[in-house]
Amino acid sequence: MKTLLFTNPSTLWSRPLADGGENPYFEVAGGTVRETLQDGTSACLVDQEYVVPEARPLPLRTFHGKVSPTIWRLLGEASELLYWRRETRVCARCGAALFRDETERAMRCPSCGGLFYPRLNPAVITLVTRGEDVLLEWKVHGSCWGLMAGFVEAGESLEEAAIREIREEAGIEVRNIVYRCSQPWPYPNSLMAGFRAEYASGEARPDGVEIEKVQWFNRTNLPEELPRPWSIAYRLLNEWR
Ligand SMILES: [Zn+2]
Repeated sequence: MKTLLFTNPSTLWSRPLADGGENPYFEVAGGTVRETLQDGTSACLVDQEYVVPEARPLPLRTFHGKVSPTIWRLLGEASELLYWRRETRVCARCGAALFRDETERAMRCPSCGGLFYPRLNPAVITLVTRGEDVLLEWKVHGSCWGLMAGFVEAGESLEEAAIREIREEAGIEVRNIVYRCSQPWPYPNSLMAGFRAEYASGEARPDGVEIEKVQWFNRTNLPEELPRPWSIAYRLLNEWR
């Protein structure tokens, strides 16, 4: 059976290909934690001691551009499902050990009947413009410029979360916020919604806690350290530039 072998939800075994690509598929059965993906292949968690000849474990993020976009998407799906399985072993209501339901993609409690589905944490990311300028931020311990982003909190809409994150991280108010696109964000289990917004008021300054620097750039002086090509931040920036 065609299988992806994960050592943990963000690392999987792979063989290098002669053309610089990666082949993360292996013909194996078994594995205690196994999930079937949308294309019928499967993914499983294997022990740390598990070794695959002529292969090595690689971080999920390193596969971008080294596998097809279809496989890239499936790796994310596999990662989120295996994370869910690893984190969902015991009933949150009564403490009994859960088992994998045979018909629904859910973990079921044999004692109280509780069902626990894979759960996503929504997050938002926003490209803020002011005339010809775009606002980028540099996180504390960061390695590239990025866009204002964060998790949606209880009781918030996506737009409200985006406005709050920009206010908290960069100290400015925005208007005309519009949804652009979204992307699964399996690090480990989010869904990232991307927005654009226009600057309204305030002086851009970093919060000094999470964010080290914020700065306005334009199309002619964009920094070299931009978001990774697989990220939604890159897509939002590319759409603008
Ligand atoms: Zn229970």
